[in-house]
Amino acid sequence: MNPKSILKETFGFDEFRPLQEEIIDAILNKNDSLVIMPTGGGKSLCFQIPALIFKGLTIVISPLISLMKDQVQQLTQVGVKAVFLNSSLSAEEYADNVELIRNNEVKLLYVAPETLTMPKTLSLLSSVNVDCITVDEAHCISEWGHDFRPEYRTIAEVKQNFSGSVTVAFTATATPRVQEDIIKSLRLEKAKKFVAGFDRKNLFLQIVPKTDPLQQTVDFLKQYRNQSGIIYCFSRKQVDELYVELKYYGFSVLPYHAGLSDADRKLNQEKFINDDIQIIVATIAFGMGINKPNVRFVIHFDLPKNIESYYQEIGRAGRDGLRAHCLLLLGYGDISKINYFINRKEEKEKRIAQMHLDALIAYAESYTCRRIPLLNYFGEKYEHENCGMCDNCEKEEANLQDITIHAQKFLSCIIRTGQFYGTLHIVEILRGSKSKKIIEKRHNELSTYGIGKDLTKEQWLNLSRQFLQIGIINKDYNYGSLKVTEKGNSVLTGDLKVKGRLKPDEISYKVKKDSIPEYDNELFSLLKNKRKTIADNIGVPPYVIFPDRTLIEMASYFPQKANSLTTIHGIGRMKLKRYGKIFLEVIKDYCESKQIKENLPLNNIKRKTKSAPREKISRANEIVGIYQSSKNFDDFVNRTGVKPSTVLRHLTTYLLKGNKIDTEILCKALSVDNEMQRSVFALFKKLGVDFLSPIYNELDEKVPYDDLHILRICFLNNK
Ligand code: ADP
Ligand code: MG
Ligand code: ZN
Repeated sequence: MNPKSILKETFGFDEFRPLQEEIIDAILNKNDSLVIMPTGGGKSLCFQIPALIFKGLTIVISPLISLMKDQVQQLTQVGVKAVFLNSSLSAEEYADNVELIRNNEVKLLYVAPETLTMPKTLSLLSSVNVDCITVDEAHCISEWGHDFRPEYRTIAEVKQNFSGSVTVAFTATATPRVQEDIIKSLRLEKAKKFVAGFDRKNLFLQIVPKTDPLQQTVDFLKQYRNQSGIIYCFSRKQVDELYVELKYYGFSVLPYHAGLSDADRKLNQEKFINDDIQIIVATIAFGMGINKPNVRFVIHFDLPKNIESYYQEIGRAGRDGLRAHCLLLLGYGDISKINYFINRKEEKEKRIAQMHLDALIAYAESYTCRRIPLLNYFGEKYEHENCGMCDNCEKEEANLQDITIHAQKFLSCIIRTGQFYGTLHIVEILRGSKSKKIIEKRHNELSTYGIGKDLTKEQWLNLSRQFLQIGIINKDYNYGSLKVTEKGNSVLTGDLKVKGRLKPDEISYKVKKDSIPEYDNELFSLLKNKRKTIADNIGVPPYVIFPDRTLIEMASYFPQKANSLTTIHGIGRMKLKRYGKIFLEVIKDYCESKQIKENLPLNNIKRKTKSAPREKISRANEIVGIYQSSKNFDDFVNRTGVKPSTVLRHLTTYLLKGNKIDTEILCKALSVDNEMQRSVFALFKKLGVDFLSPIYNELDEKVPYDDLHILRICFLNNK
């Protein structure tokens, strides 16, 4: 059997995910490997498939019983022989499993390191042939990781007992420090390293100001009726309060935090995993050991500790690859709360904590695609123009307006006061406040005093954050004083225009229509009920029977023969045999009553379930498409529905990437004569194409900006 056919026949999946195939190859060739892949990337299959091909045993070292149990259940369901050895087993079960291992009747053995190093385990394993040692959640080996487990340190030693086996370590933790530790501790110096990108494409990222958190949460949850999700809070107290409120609103919810008894915590977690309840309100204690693939949303009710925790926490959503929504409520009160804690720390610790917080705030206040600062934090560059899966990319650009004048007022006020003061003081001067400090410093005599009365204090504070974000000012974190950067100087001289938002954006938690796969809701619930009944009967979580996507495909293709079922995601040989008939009955009954025919995709080439929206054509490409089919410039602008300057900017972006277009339509829209056009071209040669304002000024403001935009496009096109 080759990997690809195992993928289809045993697991019921059509395609490998990125890197899976290469990693499987390396393992089969007995190359030691280190794999760094984000949560939900599909690490398990990378060692499970080789395990099925190897003659001998694959040992999987895992830190938690819940993780072992989850994988063994899933493997058992697809007909793969896998067992674990740990303290949760009765003496009898333990002995049975030992017997199976001894007789070479299992392919995968899951153990925690402390079990592995026990003499009786080692003696058992010395009698069998071990082909692969997999270290799952390998970051547990490192003190720098978030879940350090000292016992993981002993793995290297045990490894020597199995000289013919290959060692593979898996983790989702990206920090270099942790990676180094893994390599050193496991002696993986010669290992092949596989690093998958950290972008989780199916997570929709949204951050909104925390204004009325309870109401905001309720509004959000209403969009996700009957879906699973996690709400993270800062403290136990907050968890308890929010839990009571949400319960009162009628949501299906339970709390989780370290203050509950072990039994209660375990029970609540299991109810969540088994779809007995929909929502869990938790402190960050919740998450490790949760493999639930259909978590559809994660809400950060309070600010997370740092970007790394945030990434990890949102990472628990959407493991199944379907769209999941991550909402962060950004409260400025929360920031002061964290600042208060930070200020009580030792000097060195304080600096690090402050850096973490700053990075998080910069991310949260970002006006660019969220994926740029997020991935940048992990050392990755996000190259796409529009991810189509974050709030900023979804906002219409038309909301951006020219705020150059406001920026100039703000910047010159900073300069006039010697770059000594913080935001609040600058805003007070601009708004003409008569506070004691202002009078004392005689700042009421400045030329910038009172020139910003047209905006409210909140608007100015908001603008100031945008200025920081685009880097025209800097903030000294020791004193809070603002300074004007070089970029800011270009704004003051008029060489650089500033765009931003004067009004806060309207907030919506609505799921975009085109991101929801089309399926029959009624049939979907019938299938879900059936799945839940079966799952409860055999004592496994529903997703172990079938992932949501399997049911979604059933409810959208209406397969009515066993043969058709095999084309559905997640239905391999064993699951077809076990559950095919039961689910077919549900589908057939339903389709008969509604007279629905089978609607399988042609030639069995599946229309892709819209997990993450199809790789979105960038806005610029879209605009070019409209341009190419337009009669004239006005027609073109009308059809795009945005301002001329915006469409021209998109065309410019397109050309800057080295593309060409037919400029005829544009040239017809020019209002200046040929001679003037030549002067503009000469100036582009002399001054460059980055800024238009110097050229505008040079030509005594005779050529309007729209013309300059067009001429720049022609200039780039002929280069
Ligand atoms: P990780 O350990 O990297 O967090 P898992 O191994 O738990 O991820 O896989 C996450 C989910 O993705 C599981 O539900 C798994 O069945 C699914 N999955 C993995 N590989 C594929 C694939 N090639 N096609 C479809 N689904 C996959
Ligand atoms: Mg895993
Ligand atoms: Zn984006």
